[in-house]
Amino acid sequence: METCYFCRKGILEDKKVTVDFRWGTQLVVIEEVPAKVCNECGERYYSAEVSRRMEKIAIEGKKEKIIEVPLVRLPVMSSSVV
Ligand SMILES: [Zn+2]
Repeated sequence: METCYFCRKGILEDKKVTVDFRWGTQLVVIEEVPAKVCNECGERYYSAEVSRRMEKIAIEGKKEKIIEVPLVRLPVMSSSVV
């Protein structure tokens, strides 16, 4: 049983996840990605092999469909709160 390196208390479970994969200004959503997911904090871990395959398929893969995503912008705050 693997423990989460991030929160150090969660257990990693094998799951298929959907990844918002970005490189540069491009965004591709990749489904059915095998990952280990922390049951506490939700942190995801991908193997080196999976990361490599995601990068490759994001660039060269056949696009299943084009989806629309909403874009919002956080309003500028008047105070100096960052
Ligand atoms: Zn965790």
